[in-house]
Amino acid sequence: MAAMVGPWMLLTGCWSDRAPRLAIVAWQCLTVSVVAAVALAGVALLIPTASVSGGLAELLRACAMALSAQYSSPGGAAAAATGAILMTTVLGRLAWCLTVVLADARRRRSRHRTALDLVGTTVPGLDAVVLSADQPAVYCLPGRHRRIVVTSGALRLLTEEQLTLVLRHEQAHARQRHDLVLAWSQTTAKAFPRVPLFATARAESARLVELLADDVAIGHDGNRLALADALLTLSSASAPVAALAAGGSTAGARVRRLINPRRPLGRLGAGLVASAAIGMLLLPVAVAVGPAASATQMDYCPTGTPAAAASMHSTAD
Ligand SMILES: [Zn+2]
Repeated sequence: MAAMVGPWMLLTGCWSDRAPRLAIVAWQCLTVSVVAAVALAGVALLIPTASVSGGLAELLRACAMALSAQYSSPGGAAAAATGAILMTTVLGRLAWCLTVVLADARRRRSRHRTALDLVGTTVPGLDAVVLSADQPAVYCLPGRHRRIVVTSGALRLLTEEQLTLVLRHEQAHARQRHDLVLAWSQTTAKAFPRVPLFATARAESARLVELLADDVAIGHDGNRLALADALLTLSSASAPVAALAAGGSTAGARVRRLINPRRPLGRLGAGLVASAAIGMLLLPVAVAVGPAASATQMDYCPTGTPAAAASMHSTAD
């Protein structure tokens, strides 16, 4: 249900443009919630349902004897096998794709940093590496050994104020680790390519981190028009893969947002969105562990021998 209602909530209206940080968190909560719900559904199938009412409580309380009793029937064994396959597939695929995404990004950035160290130069007073290139571009290679890169073309075309703003934009990407936000959304989209939700989350996350970096660059008293001008100058630039650029394909929409700013989301709206995001995150866990309270009042695991357990089951029947 969250997979259908969540995107509708997050895409309705323009509130995300007014609160990009909150929108990023909401998309993260939604994708984590959907993945967790599917994985926990596998757990619910895996754990016996005959002796317990359902949920993660079984995982904590069920004993080997109860498992054995459940799996002895063809239906129980099939459900358990389905649950085990579902859980293993979801978590395994997610872990594999996360590893691939992070390793690929690290390899590309490391290679690019090595090249920068060879051909890049520094300029006194400029916290960035300068590349000799006519194309105006400003981008950052995020991570622990981050680099912010400015081409000589950008230095020639941008005013001092514009350069300061785009450097702040890049520093926001690097400092707030927007690369990790994008790594997660890329991972879920790669792991489950047939689920539109994850493709939408990836596209929205990429757009929202740019809005957020723009907001940080502007701050309270930054010149919005100067940043808009700078984005137009840099809009034709293409950044290396695994880098975060100041310009890029979203520049047009960002320029419009900078020129026609809207009020940030109010406290009430932000509170509603935050509550919904937390609710989405907690929903699958709450459903899974909900029976735990009642489970603590019940004795699921017979302490005697298997024969005694069988006797107990037959008595109950
Ligand atoms: Zn950017």
